[in-house]
Amino acid sequence: MKAEIISIGTELLLGEIVDTNSAYLASQLPLLGLDLHFISTVGDNQQRLVNILQQAWQRSDIILTTGGLGPTQDDITREAIAEFLAEEIRTNPELVKEFERLFKHFKMEMPKSNLRQAGVIPSAQIIANPRGTAPGWWIERDNHTIITMPGPPNEMQLMWTNSIMPRLQQKLGTAIIVSKTLKVFGLSEAKVDELVSSFLVSTNPTVGTYAKPDGIHLRITAKACTTDEAQAFITEKERSIRAILGDSIWGTDSDNLEAIIGALLMAKGLTMASMESSTGGLLANCITNIPGSSRYFKGGVIAYTDSVNTFYGIDEHLTSRYGMISTEVAAAMALAVRQHLRTDIGIALTAVTGPSEIEGKPIGTICIGIDNGQRTSTFTKNYPGNRPQVKQRAVISALFELRRILI
Ligand code: ATP
Repeated sequence: MKAEIISIGTELLLGEIVDTNSAYLASQLPLLGLDLHFISTVGDNQQRLVNILQQAWQRSDIILTTGGLGPTQDDITREAIAEFLAEEIRTNPELVKEFERLFKHFKMEMPKSNLRQAGVIPSAQIIANPRGTAPGWWIERDNHTIITMPGPPNEMQLMWTNSIMPRLQQKLGTAIIVSKTLKVFGLSEAKVDELVSSFLVSTNPTVGTYAKPDGIHLRITAKACTTDEAQAFITEKERSIRAILGDSIWGTDSDNLEAIIGALLMAKGLTMASMESSTGGLLANCITNIPGSSRYFKGGVIAYTDSVNTFYGIDEHLTSRYGMISTEVAAAMALAVRQHLRTDIGIALTAVTGPSEIEGKPIGTICIGIDNGQRTSTFTKNYPGNRPQVKQRAVISALFELRRILI
């Protein structure tokens, strides 16, 4: 079967936003065995969208649209589809009730314009949007399927995984596809590739490696007739991979290091504080992204060389002898912040973020200190890259080592 994607929005044509929705859908369609022949982008113009729908109808069986389902006048997807199919948009009372309930819940008055989103044509079935007010439409007519989805990627992707993908699987009678991602840190992509090379050639499940900002991701994807069967394939493969990569796997799927650390600190009833120089508070920012982090994170200090010596009582000889980017200074910073903020753990980070080397140390040098009151552990790493990349790598390295110490 042939599929086609139409992304709608003038912002896309002006280059103000990149069409990640089409890229996402394009990556999903092969999983369903659908051939994607065309991706079109059209602005917020009803007539031009009708024209594209006409073309798509001629050449494709399944037409997927994203965008233009909002409440404002320039959101024209509903009207264009209604015009193309020669159907009338009618207000759906169930949707109106649902919107009223939602707005009441948020103690807001519902703007009249939102009623536009409750309009549906007779041949459309409503697809729930758990993250917004724009419902999707599923239309079956004359051996064609038109599926409309909202533009915001988080709304579109949830609607896709929750409702559309399973329904298409059922319609097409294709196999169930289940994926699981294992997240690895501390090993290069080449090393991970080498260690799991025998799995990379397997066809079901398939295993792929991807370099991401938080390390290397290994995605295991299994195909089967039922979810349970696909899950069993994945579990077996995961067990074999874990036997090889062991401790380097720090999480799966949507896990992130700061949430894992938060959970570990809470479970152990421990508190922590941080001191950073070159990362400018990025470590504290990550940790405080987790709701409830105030229960274990007692504060963070951003300190460059002079303030490290002046305010935190770090021996000046250490910085002059070893340099600011050294494990000795990182250890002293970790101890100082732990004592200063009276926490169980102090973590410190200092790095050469570029654009040039410092103290004869190359760009990408990262020094980490972690003090838990009994002992101070230090780590040195090197991840060359530009300034934001080194900062991010430094923070992920620090979080990774902290996790290792906590477990
Ligand atoms: P809303 O109810 O939020 O108005 P909508 O269905 O009308 O939803 P649009 O108004 O077209 O969607 O887009 C809303 C936002 O979603 C855009 O400003 C943009 O940030 C994002 N967006 C829309 N289309 C795409 C796309 N194809 N790729 C990535 N992001 C997109």
